[in-house]
Amino acid sequence: MSSLEITNLHVSIGEKEIVKGLSLTVNSGEVHALMGPNGTGKSTLSKAIIGHPDYTITGGDVRLDGKSVLQMEPDERARAGLFLAFQYPSEIPGVTIANFIRAALQARHAEGEELDASAYYKRLYQKMDMLKIDRKFTSRAVNAGFSGGEKKRCEILQMAMIEPKFALMDETDSGLDIDALKIVSEGVNQLRGPGLGVLMITHYQRLLNYIVPDHVHVMWDGRIVRSGDKSLAVELEAKGYTWVKKELAHA
Ligand code: ADP
Ligand code: MG
Repeated sequence: MSSLEITNLHVSIGEKEIVKGLSLTVNSGEVHALMGPNGTGKSTLSKAIIGHPDYTITGGDVRLDGKSVLQMEPDERARAGLFLAFQYPSEIPGVTIANFIRAALQARHAEGEELDASAYYKRLYQKMDMLKIDRKFTSRAVNAGFSGGEKKRCEILQMAMIEPKFALMDETDSGLDIDALKIVSEGVNQLRGPGLGVLMITHYQRLLNYIVPDHVHVMWDGRIVRSGDKSLAVELEAKGYTWVKKELAHA
């Protein structure tokens, strides 16, 4: 079993502190939902965990299976088992999805050890079938001219192929129509299992109708202010985030 432990994490962008002492542990097999209003630091948290250079960690720690990842380069963190599905995935014109994922997998092999091409494609097509993705998709350039739904599907496919220990999914539901939302949710539900821990960041409760989380956390102004089970998400949907704010004001 693996664990991703975030302890008293502080993250700044430039001089501004965005994440202000956040603690959260995700174990493999668990799906945690992190909810909160816009601008509260959810994307900052996920980017800091994977080592984005714009985000400075000024305190606390992030440990993967007990070992701090903070001194690791982003690619080392990825090879150690962390995966981030971006809120706004980048376009990579000229690089096909098939080649992009292949390079990501090749980077996980020992130097000089070639990935077997036919085995690779066999596995790629299996995963695509599972996620109901058209074969033609693989020869398109990564995210170039993709719809919101296609970008998210591309991220889920990468995740299915890379098989990370922990997936941080930042607003995987944003920009999706209801059919795309269902497909992406089905994909995540299929990847769910004892070997994977998920931190699912979402602004809306809607996604949680399809991907039922084991734990729900509410983030406010750089901290987790409430944690509970899936009923917390339902309560939030009914009462809105201002309810949390009012409760905080009275605390
Ligand atoms: P969320 O994902 O919860 O909506 P973000 O982490 O994107 O929140 O943003 C938190 C705060 O950090 C916001 O005030 C935002 O304006 C600021 N911020 C985010 N990214 C940057 C950046 N690259 N440069 C400066 N400020 C940023
Ligand atoms: Mg965000």
